[in-house]
This record gives sequence, C-alpha cells and structure tokens, in this order.
Amino acid sequence: MSVRTDFATVEVPNDSHVQKNENNMEREKKRLLHYLRQERKRGGDEEFGRRIKTIQKLSQFSHGQSNPTYKLLVEMTDGTLKSYVLRKKPGGNILSSAHAVEREFQVQLALKRKHPNFPVPRMILLCEDSSILGTPFYIMDFVQGTIYLQPKLPVITREERKTRIYENMAKTLGALHSFDIRELGLTSFGNISSGSYSRRTLKRWFGQYEKSITNKLVETPEKEVVMKLVAWLDANCPKDGEEVSDRIIHGDYRLDNLIYDERSDDVLAVLDWELSTVGCPHADVAYNCLPYYLPPGLEFYPSFGDSNQVPAGVPTEKQYCNIWAQHARLPNICGSSKWKFYVALSMFRGMAILAGVRARAVAGNASSRNARQAGSLVEVFAKRAYVVVVQGGASKVPRQEIKGGYEPSEKCMVLLEKLRAFMSEHVYDAEEVFERHATTNERWSVHPLMEELKKKAKAKGLWNLWLPLDSAALIKIKNARGNDEALYKGPGLTNLEYAHLAREMGKVPWASEIFNCSAPDTGNMEVLLRYGTKEQQERWLLPLLMGDIRSCFAMTEPAVASSDATNIESSIAKSTNGTQYVVNGRKWWTSGACDPRCAIAIFMGKTKTTGPQHEQQSMVLVPMLNNHKVKVVRPLLVFGYDDAPHGHAEVIFDNVVVDVKESLLAREGAGFAIAQGRLGPGRLHHCMRLVGMAERSLDVTYARVKSRVAFGKPLSENSNVLNVLGNCRVEVDGARLLTLYAAHVLDQLGIKDSRARSAVAACKISAPNVACSVIDRCIQLFGGEGVSQDSPLARLYAGARTLRIADGPDEVHLETVAKIDLRRSKL
Ligand SMILES: Cc1cc2nc3c(=O)[nH]c(=O)nc-3n(C[C@H](O)[C@H](O)[C@H](O)COP(=O)(O)OP(=O)(O)OC[C@H]3O[C@@H](n4cnc5c(N)ncnc54)[C@H](O)[C@@H]3O)c2cc1C
Repeated sequence: MSVRTDFATVEVPNDSHVQKNENNMEREKKRLLHYLRQERKRGGDEEFGRRIKTIQKLSQFSHGQSNPTYKLLVEMTDGTLKSYVLRKKPGGNILSSAHAVEREFQVQLALKRKHPNFPVPRMILLCEDSSILGTPFYIMDFVQGTIYLQPKLPVITREERKTRIYENMAKTLGALHSFDIRELGLTSFGNISSGSYSRRTLKRWFGQYEKSITNKLVETPEKEVVMKLVAWLDANCPKDGEEVSDRIIHGDYRLDNLIYDERSDDVLAVLDWELSTVGCPHADVAYNCLPYYLPPGLEFYPSFGDSNQVPAGVPTEKQYCNIWAQHARLPNICGSSKWKFYVALSMFRGMAILAGVRARAVAGNASSRNARQAGSLVEVFAKRAYVVVVQGGASKVPRQEIKGGYEPSEKCMVLLEKLRAFMSEHVYDAEEVFERHATTNERWSVHPLMEELKKKAKAKGLWNLWLPLDSAALIKIKNARGNDEALYKGPGLTNLEYAHLAREMGKVPWASEIFNCSAPDTGNMEVLLRYGTKEQQERWLLPLLMGDIRSCFAMTEPAVASSDATNIESSIAKSTNGTQYVVNGRKWWTSGACDPRCAIAIFMGKTKTTGPQHEQQSMVLVPMLNNHKVKVVRPLLVFGYDDAPHGHAEVIFDNVVVDVKESLLAREGAGFAIAQGRLGPGRLHHCMRLVGMAERSLDVTYARVKSRVAFGKPLSENSNVLNVLGNCRVEVDGARLLTLYAAHVLDQLGIKDSRARSAVAACKISAPNVACSVIDRCIQLFGGEGVSQDSPLARLYAGARTLRIADGPDEVHLETVAKIDLRRSKL
C-alpha cells in the first residue's frame, strides 16, 4: 500500500449536484474510516487521521462524467463538522490510461507547492490501494464558492461582472501556461519525447475512440465523419518543433470546472485535472474557446450558440485570447489557420471523450446519471468539428431560431436559469431527506431543512414568483418591513412567465413551498390581496408573503357534494349585536390544516339560507393557532400518503367566535364569487406543475429504459416502448402548450373574460389527465420499482390523480368549456 499525504494544498469543489444515494454508502464509509484510522497508527497522515471521529456522509456529486467524486462530511474529534472531497477511479472495465487520479493528485500538489496563489485545492491524501474503495482515490479540501454552468452567464445581470468572470478565467489559464515544468518538477508528467503534442493527442484519442466502439452494442452513427475529420487533422498536424508543447495544460479547462468567489469574481479553484498533461497551451486555450463554436442546446457543453451571440460584457473570442496570451506570455494565434486546427482537434478530443462516456454507459459503469445523454452528443461533436474544418469557423454555420411560441422572456429566462441551478444544487438532493422524514414519528413537524432552503431561495430572489404585478399592486401595506418590500412583492412576473418556473418546481412535489409558491397559500394570498382590508393584509397577508406562517382553505364538506359550492351547509351566524360571527361546520380535505405553521383559515359558509343561491355564502378568516374551538379530527390519506406535515384534514369548527370587521372578506354574500376568482390562477398553477410532474416522470423513465436490458436488449430498443414514449411526448407537449396559452389569455383578458375561463378550464381538464396517463405509462415501463418508494413515480401519480378532483372535478370543467362554446355559437 502506498499513501502520500501533504498539508500544504487543498481542493474544494462546490456543494452542488450531490446525489441522494448516500444510503448505499454505509459499507464504504466504514471501510474508509477504518483505513484512515489504520493509517494514523502506521504514522501516515497523522494530522488528518487523528482528528477524525466519524464519517457522517459520503454522497456523490452528479456533476462531471469521469471520475466519481464524493462529498465527504467528517465529524472531527472536537465535534466540528468538516467537508472534504473524495475522488476515485471508476470501477469496471475502463479504457487504459484514463481516469488516473494519481496524476490529478500529483499535478495539483506540485502547483500548490510552487505557486501557492494559483487556485487549486489542497491535496490531503492519495490512496493507491484498491482494496479500500475498489479503486484508488484521493482526498482534498472542499472549497465553497459558485460554479457557473452556462457560458452566457444568465444569472449575472451586471455586464462588468461578466467581463470580470471571463477575464479571471483567461488570466488563470494564462498563468498556468506561463509556469516552468522543470520548476514544478513535472518534466516527466507528459510523454514529450514522442513527437509533437498534437500528433500524440490525435493518436491517443483516435486510439481511445476506436477502443470505445469495439462493443457491438454501441451505435456509431458518427463513424464516417470521424474518419474524414481524422484524415484532415492528420494532414494538417503541426510537425515536431512547430508548436509550443512544454507547458502544463489542464485538458478540460471550462467555465464549469472553475469555482468563483461570488463577491470578488476571483477564481477560487480549478477542478477536474484528470486530463492534465505536459502539452501545447494553444490547444488548451482553443479547447477553452469551444463555447464560441458549439451549437446551442447542448446540455453538457453549453455554448454561446454562435460567435455572434456572445452576450454583452463577455469578450469576443479574439479579446479573450488576447488576455490569455498576455498572461501566458505567448503569441495569440486566434483566427489563424493553425487556430482552426487546434479548435478542430479540441472538438475531436471532446468527441472521443464523449464516446468513452457512451461506451461506459453501455457497459453500465458510467460515473454520472447523465452519462447516457453525454454519449448521444458524440455525433454532434464530430459533425461540428468537420464543419469547422471544412467551412472555417462557427460563425458561418447558420443558426436555427425557433420563434413565435410562448418561449420565456429574457427576465423569465434569468430566473429560470437561477431556479434550475437552485433545484439541482439543493432540491433534488433533499428529496430523500424529506421522504425519510415523512416516514418518521416526527413527520408532522417541519424539517429544519425546509426553512433553511426558504432562506436560501429568498437570498437568491427566488421568492413569490407567482405574484403577478397587477396583484402585487393591490398590497395596501406600505413599507411594513422596510427592505422586505422587494421580497414580498416578488419579481412581478406575468402568468405566462410564471408558467415556465412553476413547471420546473412541479418536478418535485414539495418544491413550490421553498419559493413561497405553493397551494393553498398562493390562492389564499390572492384572496387577501383582492378582498382583504388593510388590517387583514397587515395581520395575515404580510406574514404569508414572507413565508412566516401558512394557511388553509376550508370549503369542502363531507356531508354534501362540494363540487357545487352552493351546497355548502356550514353556517356563519351573526351575533345579536351584529359585531361577531359564530362559525360552525364540519369540513374535510382542508389542505395544510395539520401544518404546525398554519395560522389562518379562509372559511366558507352561509350567512343566510334564503335569497339567490349564489349570494348566500360568505368567507371569513378564522385564526387557527391555539384555537380550541377548531378541532383537527384527522389527516385524510391520499392513496395511503398523508402528505405530512402539510396534510389534508377533516376539521370541526365548533362555535368559533370571530369579530365581523376583522374576519369578513369583501361583503356578506360574496363567498361564491370569491371562490370562483380564487381558483382561476390557482388552477392554472396546478396545471403548470402537472406538466413538470409529467416531464420529470419521462426524464427518469428515459434513463431507465436505456439502461434496463430485458430479453437481450435495452428496453428502449423495443418498438412498443418507443411508441409509448412518443405518444407521451405528444401529449405532454399538447398539455404544456394549452397551459401556456391559458396563462397568456389570463394575462391579456383577466379571469372574468369567458375566453380566459374557458382556456383555464380546458387546461385544468387536460393537464391532470395527461399527467396521470403519462405517469401511469412510466410506472409500467419501470416495472415494480415504479410503484415503490424507490422511484418518484408513485408519489407523483398520487398527486396528479387527486387533481382530477381537487379544485373542481373534470366534469365540472368540461361543462364550463362546453357551455361557453354553446353560448358563443348562439351569437
Ligand atoms: C388532495 C385533495 C386536496 C383538497 N384540498 C382542498 C382544500 O384545501 N380545500 C377545500 O375546500 N377542498 C379541497 N379539496 C376538495 C375538492 O375540492 C373536492 O373534493 C372537489 O371539489 C369535489 O367535491 P366532492 O369531493 O364533494 O365531490 P362531489 O361534489 O360529491 O362530486 C363527486 C363526483 O361527482 C361527479 N360530478 C360532480 N359534479 C358533476 C357535474 N356537474 N356533472 C357530472 N358529474 C359531476 C364527478 O365525477 C365528481 O368527482 C381537496 C381534495 C383533494 C382530493
């Protein structure tokens, strides 16, 4: 066994994208702890080993395609918790010479020793003994900071910050290329004796590509173009001595391999040194410039689309290379014919790496859940490289634009990117935590993580996204909490803009709460905005907008068919002196009433039993906390789920006395009309989330059918499976467009217009039915796991099915659509 340790260096990958499968890591945690303790006895890394008490967590980062990387949470003997990062070679049959974690360790160690200001993490320990975790691994410090995934930097609004982020990226790479390999002690780090770097690279990656396609199960639609590309690269390859090739190169230097300080925009750490070697710095910077060349829409290699699309603040390719050249103290060859070669070579190398990922995915040992998708990009890369070679550059490739749909606005796009990043950094990872909590005796309490996530969402401006500008204008409270105003008013999106965000939130059943966008609070806030007095808004609306309390809506009653709200029998009787109401009734399906934060109920009952049917109902506010006249009888189960801590309760209101002025909403007799208005946008929000639920189900199913092999081939190769998935896509897109259309019409005309009511009703019929049917088919494709707690499908199905009833059953909405059409046809 050989162990190397060092305390002068540390690496810190960002916290994002940690997967949730830490449960399966118990064995590894034990072995690792045992190993580290043993090492201490043998006098290995004494400082590190001696201070470790337990390993709390070992959970895998999903980001990155190559070496599996884990966040290691360690409790030290002094009781503090410390985060580290563990990176290891993947298991299974891997291509020779790839995934050398030992080399990663070596280069970062050398850089930190000789150039302490160069941003690499501190290396802690290298273990080359495969018996501990199955393959060699190393441990480094965890660095907290921000990773920007998108080259366009949509989350950054100020142009000067974009400029700074790019300048710092170019300067850091330039600095790396200026270092002397002899001084670093890395002269033997690359195979510099055997020909030019470019020749070696071409040979090596062509060899890797060939090896990656030996498995007959691997499809190779790119092969013909790869061969043409290789022929061109071979003919144009710089000869020995024609290129600079004695520098340390990173090999995969891209924006999303850098951790930034969000305040100073300095680079805190350069990650993922797996491909580093001694080689040609021009090739390294050309690879770094690929976002200027790649087509739009590639999830794993996001780009600017084409070089004309570089956003304001981001330098052009030429400007970027100038900054790099100054710091590398090397000539800038951007735009020359040599440059074209390096760009094409970089794409070829990218293609070969992706082909390796594809091969590992087919063989079943890829390190990332996204590995299969990366594999499908092989052809895109090969073709793009050939276009560069033949046509001379990206800007000559026509860019196809899709216009005229309901695509997100610029403002919405910025929030959407932020929301997606937040979901992948915090929300998907927390699913298991909440699922586990929901099975414990503590489940009727709020998990502290929820409040923590809410704080984070507020800090990112992802708060009250549902609140349209016209509703926000109805807030009567003035500067109630000074600086909080911007927060409680939200970013002022239209329903159409919000639709894109709600769809994203719908992918995880409880995610909307994190952004203060969940039912029934949004509907209740809308009621308080439209019908609440200034005093009611101050007392109840403000804490709801700030996420300090929660609420419920008590309309449905077990005794009567509540889809017809005129049936409601609960009573709101006025006291003889006319200042108080006495509220009585048995309600059920009062969602949220079990939540310990539920402070207020909007209660619907009759203030009179005579007169026009639609004017007998009123709505009053009933305080819930410590109100002994309100009895939560039981939580109802939805297909066995109690949805704790939210819950759908049966509640008895037993002679509850409330003040008329404090509690009445609008006026007596307005209850029915308020209910109709409340449910307009609320129904639409449900539909937007339902589309997200269906899309999430499809996403997990795509991964499943590609990897699950039955009767000798992946499920995805059965024509009936393709048939099912094709139909699902058609239906989901239909429901999505109907929802976006309804949001658009609601924005334009308001809920009182019959066209808006019809559009909302139509998507309230379509979305839950499509979601149910799509999730049902996904469950079928999943097999047994689909109905279990190991996939999200069962819970998603239960949620989607209830929405064919909740907020009005399908039949009632169908009637609405048909009646409006019939009325129109008479005109
Ligand atoms: C998970 C969940 C959460 C809920 N949350 C809340 C909440 O927070 N607050 C609240 O007040 N309520 C809530 N509800 C209740 C929900 O709004 C009602 O269940 C719904 O309005 C239907 O009322 P009902 O159950 O009394 O069914 P009924 O009115 O008895 O209707 C039963 C069935 O009759 C048929 N039907 C009804 N009307 C027609 C018609 N015109 N033509 C043809 N067929 C018809 C439909 O098939 C319908 O499903 C929730 C329900 C669920 C399942």
